[in-house]
Amino acid sequence: MERILNFIDGEARAAVSGEWLDVHAPATGSVYAQLADSDGRDVDLAVAAAERAYPAWRDLGREGRSNALLKLASLIERDTEAFVADESRDNGKPVALARRVDIPRAIANLRFFATAILHFSSEAHAMDDTALNYTDRQPFGVAGCISPWNLPLYLFTWKIAPALAAGNCVVAKPSEATPLTAYRMSLLCNEAGIPPGVLNIVHGLGPKVGSAIVAHPDVPAISFTGGTRTGAEIARVAAPMFKKLSLELGGKNPVLVFADCDFEQMLRTTVRSSFTNQGQICLCGSRILIERSIYDRFRDAFVERVRALRVGDPADATSDLGAVVSQPHLEKVLSYIELARQEGGRVLCGGERVLLGGALANGWYLAPTVIEGLGPACRTNQEEIFGPVVTLQPFDGDAHAVELANATPYGLASVIWTRDLQRAHRVARALQAGIVWVNCWMVRDLRTPFGGVKQSGVGREGGLDALRFFTEAKNVCVRL
Ligand code: NAD
Repeated sequence: MERILNFIDGEARAAVSGEWLDVHAPATGSVYAQLADSDGRDVDLAVAAAERAYPAWRDLGREGRSNALLKLASLIERDTEAFVADESRDNGKPVALARRVDIPRAIANLRFFATAILHFSSEAHAMDDTALNYTDRQPFGVAGCISPWNLPLYLFTWKIAPALAAGNCVVAKPSEATPLTAYRMSLLCNEAGIPPGVLNIVHGLGPKVGSAIVAHPDVPAISFTGGTRTGAEIARVAAPMFKKLSLELGGKNPVLVFADCDFEQMLRTTVRSSFTNQGQICLCGSRILIERSIYDRFRDAFVERVRALRVGDPADATSDLGAVVSQPHLEKVLSYIELARQEGGRVLCGGERVLLGGALANGWYLAPTVIEGLGPACRTNQEEIFGPVVTLQPFDGDAHAVELANATPYGLASVIWTRDLQRAHRVARALQAGIVWVNCWMVRDLRTPFGGVKQSGVGREGGLDALRFFTEAKNVCVRL
């Protein structure tokens, strides 16, 4: 059976404990690999290696670091098909999705930050006659990067690329549910010319490995993407240590459908924004709010499209949805569907497991589920489900739409469908969200600030925001 090892100081290594965790393939429900079950001792080794490597990596300069990251991107691109197959096997997502989104985006993240650092500059503030201030932005040493399972290599590279480009060394932890592609990538680091100790990957459980990275006194900055509860625990430990924190957390994103929208384009995109990656994208719209005059038309057309989606073998190019990531997650999503029923919701389609045959008989498949008849205050409309489940609610007018959209503790992304430009701007301004899409979804320009408000997080990633996070600003004031 394949063994997924840590990558510390340029070497693939088992955990100090010598223990292993099972890694499952969601498509079949079976164990397909063993994962290093690391703990604080492995994190200590990784941080020590990173500290040793830091001065030379920083002093390599922007071009040297950029070249190494570009080389790593090209090596992943060379091995695209292997990465695509691994990402699908590990996560349960359709191969077609990994090929279209996950792996190209991981490559793009590395290229984007490898080149962004070449153009990164800082400000100067001249005072009349007295002095000139300039902002000196320097890396700080060792960055801790912790990522989730839903977009494994995509979100892993989204963190490590700006950290490394800025001149820091990294101790990173991918999710224990989906460690495979980060491991594959670690095996390319030496060939890419990334010196030993610059990127260290420690695998294992969050409360053992993740918390050891967060609590380590020599890791002054933590970039975390994951659940809101985990984010709160990380903040509890890191805040009294005065660490820099970037927290990208959960969501309960609204999609606002106004009667004047381009109905066909909206419908097609809303099916995608609901169920891409089995609804397991933090940006998926899980609460669809529809202007009352088109509510029935929307519901009937939407349910018809959703019924036509194919849940099947992730390896089959015709599958629209693959498996959800784990047995506990499958049970969690099913328990929310049951809760929705208890709260008085009507399940219009889906609502149960999909049982496939043969080798896939024990896989974790769920039918895409649409629920109506629930008000904004119920738990189904308040809590993040993070699966292929959406609810429908009617609204009357702009103010009501905004009230419903803002009626959760979260504030990550929102979508507005309207042809009225003034309304689009007005509603976008009123929404409590870090990201608003108008007449589109998941269109991403990597230069833009990315992040959430309220319980969806603290800080922004992407573009200059990420490079600023991974450097410390120092004002130098020179008397004229
Ligand atoms: P999670 O919080 O359970 O785990 C995320 C990572 O944190 C994993 O690597 C895990 O091992 C680690 N971890 C767990 N406990 C820890 C601890 N005490 N200290 C340090 N690290 C710890 O999240 P998940 O289930 O892997 O991912 C799903 C969640 O991620 C959803 O809530 C989703 O909305 C969120 N998410 C947010 C964004 C965003 O950009 N805002 C993007 C993707 C996913």
